[in-house]
Amino acid sequence: MSRLVLVANRVPNPNDRGATAGGLAVALRDAVSRRDAMWFGWSGSTAEATATTPQIETRGRLTYATLDLGKEDYRRYYQGFANGSLWPTLHYRLGLSHFDRADYAGYRKVNNAFAVALAPLLRRDDLVWVHDFHLFPLGAELRRLGARQRLGFFLHVPFPPPGLFFAMPRGAELVADLAAYDVIGVQTEEDAGNLRAALANIGQKAAAARVAAFPIGIEADSFARAAAKSASGIETARFRQSLVGRTLVLGVDRLDYTKGLPQRFAGFAQLLNQFEQHRQRVTYLQVAPVSRGDVAQYRSLRRELDEWAGRINGQYADPDWMPLRYMTRAVARPTLAGFMRLARVGLVTPLRDGMNLVAKEYVAAQDPADPGVLVLSRFAGAVAQLPGALLVNPLDPDEIAEALDTALEMGREERLARWRSMEAGVREQGAQAWCQDFMAALEGGGPTAIAA
Ligand code: ADP
Repeated sequence: MSRLVLVANRVPNPNDRGATAGGLAVALRDAVSRRDAMWFGWSGSTAEATATTPQIETRGRLTYATLDLGKEDYRRYYQGFANGSLWPTLHYRLGLSHFDRADYAGYRKVNNAFAVALAPLLRRDDLVWVHDFHLFPLGAELRRLGARQRLGFFLHVPFPPPGLFFAMPRGAELVADLAAYDVIGVQTEEDAGNLRAALANIGQKAAAARVAAFPIGIEADSFARAAAKSASGIETARFRQSLVGRTLVLGVDRLDYTKGLPQRFAGFAQLLNQFEQHRQRVTYLQVAPVSRGDVAQYRSLRRELDEWAGRINGQYADPDWMPLRYMTRAVARPTLAGFMRLARVGLVTPLRDGMNLVAKEYVAAQDPADPGVLVLSRFAGAVAQLPGALLVNPLDPDEIAEALDTALEMGREERLARWRSMEAGVREQGAQAWCQDFMAALEGGGPTAIAA
């Protein structure tokens, strides 16, 4: 069986297991457990200059090969171009994108350094699976170095319509680089259509035919078990007690401007304003751990949310009731799973999201006898697999308020019917199925026809 080489900006720490492993590592666990495999990517450390040879660690059949990045290269590649230009553009937020040629050069330089360090490690029949927007050009860089292995790419975030993507300087160059991959995976049919159109637009019709949607899923059974266990644990019990019988609305997101948090807070304020019957009866907990705190836009988002939280509680709280509880510390995953099970409403309203795994986790975490209601943005990739959710336009606080009211008033029969329409899909289209589908496509076509 061919070895699988996984390439990502962040490589899981070989010492992190189970509960502490990151999302991508969990999703790929199945693929890695079945064959010899190698993780390749950034070590997570910066040095004076970018390393030319990787550090190698071996754990059984799994090898970790990681590179330290030079401080300046890291800043330009990661903070500058990947997070400053690509992330907002791919999430349809051109106005938040800033372009700097030196950042773009840093991005290309790191992709080239990855390729130069990886190429000598590759075996003839390896399957190479590259992850996400940090590494658009990696496949093309490997081909330039003579790699003839099957190369796959998966984009975890959305791909916008071509007119929007090509407004980003060098957008066409990046799309052209994708043509080096044998399989180009995205989350949804909409993303696939947009990317095919972008490739066709620059004359890459053959590559457009290699684009396909592979919606990523979660390990639903283990998440459901964790939720059931944690729901009877001490932390959830203390939390439940603190609610003194009030209904819980829960949001769980990284603190990111794509998650629609200010609009969501406005929606909750609108609920309290328009639907007075819910005052005193509902508590909304938003868990939003700080991410990318070194980027200015994220710092200003945090200030904005602090203000919203103060305003909502200032206006609506009573001495014995705090309507909004807002925390920017991370919560352990099993505890979160228990909180999800406790919540009557899962409030997931990103302005745009590749998939949104929290929505699937909320469904998996529910008590099958008395499930809660998912209120979901129509712009989350997960919409296609979650037909029982109440869909909202996340930019419209009134619509969020109306959906919250509907969810809070919904009887058990309807909640059950909606949940049942989703839970089997969440289980069956899980992380394992996602891996297997992508791997089947990657293994599918025999030796690549792409010229080195
Ligand atoms: P994104 O990848 O943009 O952060 P997703 O919803 O697809 O969004 O994935 C987020 C993952 O991070 C989920 O598995 C979710 O459970 C986890 N997560 C989000 N917030 C927290 C938190 N406060 N504590 C622990 N895990 C979190």
